[in-house]
Amino acid sequence: MKPGERELLASFEQALGEEKLRLVYQPKVRLKDGALTRVEALVRWDDSEFGAVPPSRFVPIAERHGLIDPLTEWGLRTALKQWRTWRDQGCDTRLAFNISAVSLQRLDFPDLVERICGAMGVPTDRLVLELTEGATQPLVKLMDTLTRFRIKGIGLAIDDFGTGYSSLMQLRQLPFTEVKIDRCFVADLPDAEDSRLIVRTIAELARGLGLIATAEGVETVAQLRAVHELGCEVVQGYLIAPPLEADQLIEWERGFRSRWPSLLTDEPLELWGDVELDPLSQR
Ligand code: C2E
Ligand code: MG
Ligand code: MG
Repeated sequence: MKPGERELLASFEQALGEEKLRLVYQPKVRLKDGALTRVEALVRWDDSEFGAVPPSRFVPIAERHGLIDPLTEWGLRTALKQWRTWRDQGCDTRLAFNISAVSLQRLDFPDLVERICGAMGVPTDRLVLELTEGATQPLVKLMDTLTRFRIKGIGLAIDDFGTGYSSLMQLRQLPFTEVKIDRCFVADLPDAEDSRLIVRTIAELARGLGLIATAEGVETVAQLRAVHELGCEVVQGYLIAPPLEADQLIEWERGFRSRWPSLLTDEPLELWGDVELDPLSQR
């Protein structure tokens, strides 16, 4: 174990057992009209000793020490329950949920997800799983599992596309419904010619294959306009909204609808100001 990992693992296990983790939710909106199309659940852990520990730190530890399945199950139940609350409030969006490549190795995993949806009263077509290529588990090896999800009506997005091991071939071979273009390509828009070319190419390919292309990490109006022009369909990022507490979503949506028209045109701009920033989003 790496230095400090044992202590972190013990605290994480306790936090998971005592339900001290929580989820925040980041909206994604459609560029065509600014409508809310999905909400991505992101796990948060605020520890009394270690402070706010980012998921990039504790998810890999959970994966290495057999805690990823309980984390996924807790997260899925919590997020689906929250989806019901929003639906009852009139907000019938789709829920995007991050799944570790480790969980996908279980052959019964698609059945488990379907059962949890059933138990929570959420139609499977309201759920989109976000998958990232693991270093040891190429997604192509998971064809069977991915196909099972699709048969059940669950959407599949490939996350952080363009980094790591992800390749254009996968978009064609695997049954994805969405591709999320990694924020490193969005970060240096609108000027960097190479990033423009990459974003345009992925967006065009996605459209040709019938997939939704989402641009991640949109932080400025110039980036928003660039990804629009380059052919992306959906956007997510701090400009649209930081990850929100569950009870902030409905109010955010109301405010965003009036803010949207000024984002793509040159009407006077009112930048996001009311919602307190999630501490992890500052990193
Ligand atoms: P991801 O799924 O690609 O999530 C997007 C990350 O980018 C989130 O970080 C989000 O807070 C951050 N982000 C969103 N908009 C912007 C922006 O405009 N600019 C910048 N610089 N960052 C932005 P977070 O929450 O720290 O999550 C990091 C990663 O941890 C996620 O990447 C995902 O792979 C993983 N993760 C988060 N929650 C879960 C979970 O419940 N289960 C699993 N297995 N993994 C999770
Ligand atoms: Mg994600
Ligand atoms: Mg991502």
